[in-house]
Amino acid sequence: MSKQNCDMIRDLLPLYADSVCSEESKKAVTAHLSECEECRAMLNKLNQKVAVAAEKDISAIKKIKKRIRLGKVAAITAAVILLAGGLFGGYIWAVTDCSMDYEKYNLAESLHVEEDSEGTLWLCMEGNASALSCYVFPTISDTDGGHMGYENQTFNKEKKAGFGVTLKMFRIAKLVPWQMSSYEQRIKVRSDLDYVFYYDDATNTEYVLWGEKPA
Ligand SMILES: [Zn+2]
Repeated sequence: MSKQNCDMIRDLLPLYADSVCSEESKKAVTAHLSECEECRAMLNKLNQKVAVAAEKDISAIKKIKKRIRLGKVAAITAAVILLAGGLFGGYIWAVTDCSMDYEKYNLAESLHVEEDSEGTLWLCMEGNASALSCYVFPTISDTDGGHMGYENQTFNKEKKAGFGVTLKMFRIAKLVPWQMSSYEQRIKVRSDLDYVFYYDDATNTEYVLWGEKPA
Protein backbone atom coordinates (compact mmCIF):
# COMPACT_ATOMS: atom_id res chain seq x y z
CA MET A 1 0.00 0.00 0.00
CA SER A 2 1.58 3.25 -1.11
CA LYS A 3 1.88 6.30 1.11
CA GLN A 4 0.19 8.36 -1.59
CA ASN A 5 -2.85 6.06 -1.45
CA CYS A 6 -3.00 6.48 2.35
CA ASP A 7 -3.02 10.29 1.96
CA MET A 8 -5.94 10.09 -0.43
CA ILE A 9 -7.86 7.75 1.89
CA ARG A 10 -7.22 9.98 4.93
CA ASP A 11 -8.62 12.95 3.03
CA LEU A 12 -11.77 10.92 2.64
CA LEU A 13 -11.88 9.58 6.21
CA PRO A 14 -13.85 12.45 7.81
CA LEU A 15 -16.53 12.06 5.13
CA TYR A 16 -16.40 8.29 5.57
CA ALA A 17 -16.77 8.60 9.35
CA ASP A 18 -19.80 10.81 8.85
CA SER A 19 -21.19 8.42 6.18
CA VAL A 20 -21.49 11.23 3.68
CA CYS A 21 -19.03 10.12 1.01
CA SER A 22 -20.08 8.59 -2.31
CA GLU A 23 -20.75 4.88 -2.62
CA GLU A 24 -17.58 4.54 -4.75
CA SER A 25 -15.38 6.33 -2.21
CA LYS A 26 -16.91 4.26 0.58
CA LYS A 27 -15.98 1.04 -1.18
CA ALA A 28 -12.44 2.26 -1.82
CA VAL A 29 -11.98 3.37 1.81
CA THR A 30 -13.42 0.12 3.21
CA ALA A 31 -11.15 -1.90 0.97
CA HIS A 32 -8.17 0.17 2.01
CA LEU A 33 -8.99 -0.03 5.72
CA SER A 34 -9.14 -3.81 5.61
CA GLU A 35 -5.51 -3.78 4.61
CA CYS A 36 -4.07 -0.70 6.33
CA GLU A 37 -3.76 -0.67 10.10
CA GLU A 38 -2.56 2.94 10.26
CA CYS A 39 -5.62 4.26 8.46
CA ARG A 40 -7.86 2.09 10.66
CA ALA A 41 -6.24 3.68 13.70
CA MET A 42 -6.84 7.08 12.09
CA LEU A 43 -10.55 6.28 11.63
CA ASN A 44 -10.82 5.13 15.24
CA LYS A 45 -9.38 8.44 16.42
CA LEU A 46 -11.80 10.31 14.19
CA ASN A 47 -14.78 8.34 15.50
CA GLN A 48 -13.71 9.03 19.09
CA LYS A 49 -13.47 12.76 18.36
CA VAL A 50 -16.94 12.73 16.83
CA ALA A 51 -18.30 10.89 19.89
CA VAL A 52 -16.68 13.39 22.28
CA ALA A 53 -17.99 16.30 20.24
CA ALA A 54 -21.49 14.84 20.31
CA GLU A 55 -21.26 14.38 24.07
CA LYS A 56 -20.08 17.95 24.46
CA ASP A 57 -23.05 19.11 22.39
CA ILE A 58 -25.44 17.16 24.62
CA SER A 59 -23.97 18.56 27.82
CA ALA A 60 -24.12 22.07 26.35
CA ILE A 61 -27.79 21.56 25.49
CA LYS A 62 -28.42 20.23 29.01
CA LYS A 63 -26.75 23.32 30.45
CA ILE A 64 -28.88 25.60 28.26
CA LYS A 65 -32.02 23.68 29.25
CA LYS A 66 -31.04 23.99 32.90
CA ARG A 67 -30.52 27.71 32.43
CA ILE A 68 -33.91 28.04 30.73
CA ARG A 69 -35.51 26.09 33.61
CA LEU A 70 -33.81 28.34 36.17
CA GLY A 71 -34.94 31.37 34.16
CA LYS A 72 -38.52 30.08 34.25
CA VAL A 73 -38.31 29.49 38.01
CA ALA A 74 -36.91 32.99 38.51
CA ALA A 75 -39.63 34.53 36.34
CA ILE A 76 -42.40 32.65 38.16
CA THR A 77 -40.92 33.58 41.54
CA ALA A 78 -40.70 37.22 40.51
CA ALA A 79 -44.31 37.14 39.28
CA VAL A 80 -45.49 35.57 42.54
CA ILE A 81 -43.57 38.14 44.59
CA LEU A 82 -44.97 41.00 42.48
CA LEU A 83 -48.51 39.64 42.76
CA ALA A 84 -48.23 39.13 46.53
CA GLY A 85 -46.68 42.60 46.88
CA GLY A 86 -49.45 44.11 44.78
CA LEU A 87 -52.18 42.44 46.82
CA PHE A 88 -50.50 43.44 50.07
CA GLY A 89 -49.99 46.98 48.79
CA GLY A 90 -53.61 47.14 47.68
CA TYR A 91 -54.70 45.90 51.10
CA ILE A 92 -52.59 48.51 52.88
CA TRP A 93 -53.84 51.13 50.40
CA ALA A 94 -57.46 50.24 51.03
CA VAL A 95 -57.38 49.97 54.82
CA THR A 96 -55.49 53.12 55.56
CA ASP A 97 -58.20 55.62 54.91
CA CYS A 98 -58.96 58.60 57.05
CA SER A 99 -61.30 61.54 57.10
CA MET A 100 -60.36 64.51 55.01
CA ASP A 101 -59.22 67.23 57.37
CA TYR A 102 -62.03 69.82 57.29
CA GLU A 103 -59.80 72.73 58.23
CA LYS A 104 -56.71 71.75 56.24
CA TYR A 105 -58.60 71.25 52.98
CA ASN A 106 -60.89 74.21 53.63
CA LEU A 107 -64.00 72.10 53.15
CA ALA A 108 -66.16 74.98 54.40
CA GLU A 109 -65.70 76.41 50.88
CA SER A 110 -66.06 73.27 48.79
CA LEU A 111 -68.61 71.19 50.66
CA HIS A 112 -72.15 72.29 51.23
CA VAL A 113 -75.73 71.04 51.31
CA GLU A 114 -78.47 72.39 49.07
CA GLU A 115 -82.21 71.92 49.37
CA ASP A 116 -84.11 71.74 46.08
CA SER A 117 -87.69 72.90 45.42
CA GLU A 118 -89.03 69.47 46.43
CA GLY A 119 -87.30 69.57 49.75
CA THR A 120 -84.63 67.02 48.81
CA LEU A 121 -81.21 67.64 50.24
CA TRP A 122 -78.12 67.34 48.09
CA LEU A 123 -74.56 67.07 49.26
CA CYS A 124 -72.58 69.19 46.82
CA MET A 125 -68.86 68.74 46.44
CA GLU A 126 -66.47 70.80 44.42
CA GLY A 127 -62.83 71.90 44.62
CA ASN A 128 -60.93 70.06 47.34
CA ALA A 129 -64.00 68.09 48.35
CA SER A 130 -64.11 66.39 44.98
CA ALA A 131 -60.46 66.62 43.99
CA LEU A 132 -58.78 63.38 43.01
CA SER A 133 -62.05 61.63 43.43
CA CYS A 134 -60.28 58.29 43.17
CA TYR A 135 -58.70 59.07 46.50
CA VAL A 136 -61.71 60.62 48.14
CA PHE A 137 -65.03 58.94 48.64
CA PRO A 138 -68.02 60.15 50.59
CA THR A 139 -69.11 58.00 53.48
CA ILE A 140 -72.33 58.55 55.28
CA SER A 141 -72.02 58.23 59.01
CA ASP A 142 -74.42 58.43 61.89
CA THR A 143 -74.03 60.80 64.78
CA ASP A 144 -71.93 58.25 66.62
CA GLY A 145 -69.46 58.22 63.76
CA GLY A 146 -70.47 54.75 62.66
CA HIS A 147 -70.36 54.51 58.89
CA MET A 148 -73.46 53.30 57.19
CA GLY A 149 -72.54 53.33 53.55
CA TYR A 150 -73.11 55.52 50.59
CA GLU A 151 -76.92 55.57 50.51
CA ASN A 152 -77.70 55.65 54.19
CA GLN A 153 -80.22 52.82 54.01
CA THR A 154 -80.01 51.90 57.66
CA PHE A 155 -80.45 55.35 59.06
CA ASN A 156 -82.24 55.12 62.39
CA LYS A 157 -84.80 57.90 62.29
CA GLU A 158 -85.87 57.39 65.90
CA LYS A 159 -82.38 57.75 67.16
CA LYS A 160 -80.88 60.28 64.80
CA ALA A 161 -81.81 63.83 64.20
CA GLY A 162 -78.86 64.57 62.00
CA PHE A 163 -77.16 63.16 58.98
CA GLY A 164 -73.42 62.75 58.97
CA VAL A 165 -71.11 62.60 56.05
CA THR A 166 -67.39 62.27 55.94
CA LEU A 167 -65.02 62.35 53.00
CA LYS A 168 -62.72 59.43 53.38
CA MET A 169 -59.36 59.68 51.69
CA PHE A 170 -56.60 57.15 51.49
CA ARG A 171 -53.69 58.08 53.67
CA ILE A 172 -51.43 57.85 50.63
CA ALA A 173 -53.29 60.83 49.19
CA LYS A 174 -51.89 62.87 52.06
CA LEU A 175 -48.36 62.02 50.88
CA VAL A 176 -48.75 62.86 47.21
CA PRO A 177 -48.99 66.48 46.10
CA TRP A 178 -52.63 67.53 46.20
CA GLN A 179 -53.65 68.17 42.62
CA MET A 180 -56.84 69.85 41.66
CA SER A 181 -58.47 67.58 39.13
CA SER A 182 -61.85 68.15 40.58
CA TYR A 183 -65.31 68.02 39.13
CA GLU A 184 -68.55 68.81 40.87
CA GLN A 185 -70.47 65.99 42.44
CA ARG A 186 -73.90 65.90 44.00
CA ILE A 187 -75.17 63.18 46.26
CA LYS A 188 -78.77 62.89 47.34
CA VAL A 189 -79.21 62.82 51.07
CA ARG A 190 -82.30 62.42 53.18
CA SER A 191 -84.91 65.10 53.44
CA ASP A 192 -86.43 64.49 56.86
CA LEU A 193 -83.49 65.76 58.82
CA ASP A 194 -82.82 68.48 61.33
CA TYR A 195 -79.27 68.94 60.25
CA VAL A 196 -76.46 67.55 58.11
CA PHE A 197 -72.92 67.53 59.36
CA TYR A 198 -69.44 66.70 58.26
CA TYR A 199 -67.84 64.21 60.59
CA ASP A 200 -64.09 64.11 61.06
CA ASP A 201 -62.96 60.69 62.31
CA ALA A 202 -59.55 61.82 63.40
CA THR A 203 -60.67 64.61 65.68
CA ASN A 204 -64.20 63.31 66.38
CA THR A 205 -65.48 66.69 65.36
CA GLU A 206 -68.81 67.58 63.77
CA TYR A 207 -69.09 70.49 61.36
CA VAL A 208 -72.67 71.45 60.63
CA LEU A 209 -73.26 71.80 56.86
CA TRP A 210 -76.98 72.42 56.86
CA GLY A 211 -79.68 73.06 59.42
CA GLU A 212 -79.18 73.38 63.13
CA LYS A 213 -78.01 70.81 65.59
CA PRO A 214 -80.73 70.36 68.25
CA ALA A 215 -79.63 71.53 71.66
ZN1 LIG B 1 -3.41 3.49 4.70
